[in-house]
Amino acid sequence: MNIPFLDLKAQYRSIKDEIQPALNSVLDNTAYVLGKPVLEFEKDFAAMHNAKYCYGVSSGTDGNHMVLWALGVGHGDEVIIPANTFIATAWGATLCGATPVFVDCHPESYNIDPGKITAAITPRTKAIVAVHLYGQPADVDGISGSLVGGGWLLEGQGVFVNTKTGQKIYLVEDCAQAHIAEYKKVKVGGIGIASSFSFYPGKNLGAYGEAGAVMTNNEGLAKKFKMIRDHGAEQKYVHLSYGHNYRMEGIQGAVLGVKLKHINDWTDGRRRAAAKYRKLLSGIEGIILPKEMEYAKHVYHLFVIQVRSQKSEVRSQRRDELQKYLNENGIATGLHYPVPLHTQPCFEHLGYKKGEFPEAERLAEQGLSLPMYSELTDEQIEYVCGRIKEFFKK
Ligand SMILES: *Cc1c(COP(=O)(O)O)cnc(C)c1O
Repeated sequence: MNIPFLDLKAQYRSIKDEIQPALNSVLDNTAYVLGKPVLEFEKDFAAMHNAKYCYGVSSGTDGNHMVLWALGVGHGDEVIIPANTFIATAWGATLCGATPVFVDCHPESYNIDPGKITAAITPRTKAIVAVHLYGQPADVDGISGSLVGGGWLLEGQGVFVNTKTGQKIYLVEDCAQAHIAEYKKVKVGGIGIASSFSFYPGKNLGAYGEAGAVMTNNEGLAKKFKMIRDHGAEQKYVHLSYGHNYRMEGIQGAVLGVKLKHINDWTDGRRRAAAKYRKLLSGIEGIILPKEMEYAKHVYHLFVIQVRSQKSEVRSQRRDELQKYLNENGIATGLHYPVPLHTQPCFEHLGYKKGEFPEAERLAEQGLSLPMYSELTDEQIEYVCGRIKEFFKK
């Protein structure tokens, strides 16, 4: 049996009849950039996340940049981000000229460890990016609590003020992997002062090309988003602020509009697949299953197991052997992420050392992402789990 890591064709087949007319309508109306389908999608996507404002943009990476740019993050500022995430989280800070400051992840949630944040705060800290990694919301109350306990006051949604110095820190969300995920029954995206989403084709809600969105409940910030997205202009050729071209394409808006109607079902499908994996893989001594935290509704963008290493070996050895074995049996898997951000060559100048963030490093060496998409059949999951069991019996 051949099981891909992700099966975009299966999803396309299931919605082909809805997609074609939506694409034709964009072509007929020549609404290639922004336009009605994008506007409608923005409205529906915001409503789905109980947020007031949403803007379709060119990618999640661009969204990460826009969020920090609109908040005034710039040269000399520091932005706290988890060491275990995709590199694009860090680009948000670096594109603003700011310095990313890494924090280790929590051993169970795999998200930023709230208990380790205050030690990373300096007078230059301007923002904290809570990444809802793998589809599981970060512990935002834990993050808030650690700040408030350390001399900060929650001034407004996602805004903390230092009671002595007046310094402000913004809490923003990277929701690239967490469409419609919930933290304590509240949808992500409208929890911090602002958030970004990715609609890269492989994400839980994927466009047919590059696309993303930014979201906020803050009216002033919403205005800035709209301006930055379109060359700093409200009116054509009059540029009130610096900006860029971060607009979403019409075709992506149309595709996303069609797909949005299915996201609840697709998310249920992912959760069903995760439950099945969990059931069939429980009790295998050699692996650690991902934990769904009690505060979270996980949307399983990824199902990441850890393969325990044995004392004498290189820590990634068993994981690599299992990956190879599954590959030989037609099962594709992934690594998310094999090189934690603090050990990336591009951040060498920041002076971090291997060993500094043990949890992120453990995940990099032991983590293995199993096939995950809503169309996975029970038979496919049984096959994957069967091969994993076989591997550990050998
Ligand atoms: C995918 C991803 C991004 C970037 O999104 P793109 O649309 O690919 O630019 C940012 N952050 C995280 C956590 C991601 O997984």
